[in-house]
Amino acid sequence: NKTISVAQIKEAAQEAYEQVKGNTEGKNADYIPYLANIDKSLFGISICLMDGQIIQFGDSEYKFGIESVSKVHTAVLILRQYGAQKLLEQIGADATGLPFNSIFAILLENDHPSTPLVNAGAITACSMVKPIGNSDKKWKAIVENITDLCGSAPQLIDELYKSESDTNFNNRSIAWLLKNYNRIYDDPSMSLDLYTRQCSLGITTTQLSVCGATIANKGTNPVTKKQIFDASLTPKITSLIATVGFYEHTGDWLYTSGIPAKTGVGGGVMGTLPGVFGIAAFAPPIDNAGNSVKAQLAIKYIMNKLNLNIFGGE
Ligand code: GLU
Repeated sequence: NKTISVAQIKEAAQEAYEQVKGNTEGKNADYIPYLANIDKSLFGISICLMDGQIIQFGDSEYKFGIESVSKVHTAVLILRQYGAQKLLEQIGADATGLPFNSIFAILLENDHPSTPLVNAGAITACSMVKPIGNSDKKWKAIVENITDLCGSAPQLIDELYKSESDTNFNNRSIAWLLKNYNRIYDDPSMSLDLYTRQCSLGITTTQLSVCGATIANKGTNPVTKKQIFDASLTPKITSLIATVGFYEHTGDWLYTSGIPAKTGVGGGVMGTLPGVFGIAAFAPPIDNAGNSVKAQLAIKYIMNKLNLNIFGGE
């Protein structure tokens, strides 16, 4: 319960930015052509505090592909629409320990996709978005929910959406396997398209830090002051993120950083530290598990410097 001042947080973020900026490890995701061509040197960090104050460094207003970070937003939407029990029954909340695109994630537990935060469960989540059967209204609900959580609207990157739709063969097979196991609750092609579209939304680190802060602030967006979800859902969201946010490297991530966070192959990472802040960093080059090298280093630096850790400590 120690108090950290805004000045200390700013200083830690500035140091993290300066130290990590020159790192050249990792490479852009290349299985989605659009992502392969993004400027490798882009790098931004944003932190949103519980009073709505935002700390920003670098390219914090650059709109990059949200990719798998959007899985958190749509999991929140499912919790808002259905409650905690239904998410557990129809998708699951387990760690998979598997890569993001694993088709085995469907088969792990009684043909159950395990968690909304890997591709299989995220496609199932998109299938569950209400109103069932209406693609336009489902899309509207997905975008409105992201807008609520981030405090401002995301913007579809048409070129990324096209690039991803043209090359998402693995996800197409996941959608049909889900159908085979009765784990998709709307049309499989429509559900896959909604998933692909939500991954293609452009977002900034600042918007993601506000979302992380909304979760850290028990559902009330600290910038707009709107209550987005019921406070009782907070531990459900945070535990989902903690369990599988970094795919097969989730344990290593928690062990070294002490903060639940979700990554995307676009290079974004969004973390949430209950009661303290939401944090997001972005840089396109990723490691072999699909996680941004610089974003990881920056967030770890800040957490360690401030001596903050969800699992306790000094
Ligand atoms: N749209 C990407 C995919 O489904 C997201 C992967 C990720 O960000 O981890 O392949």
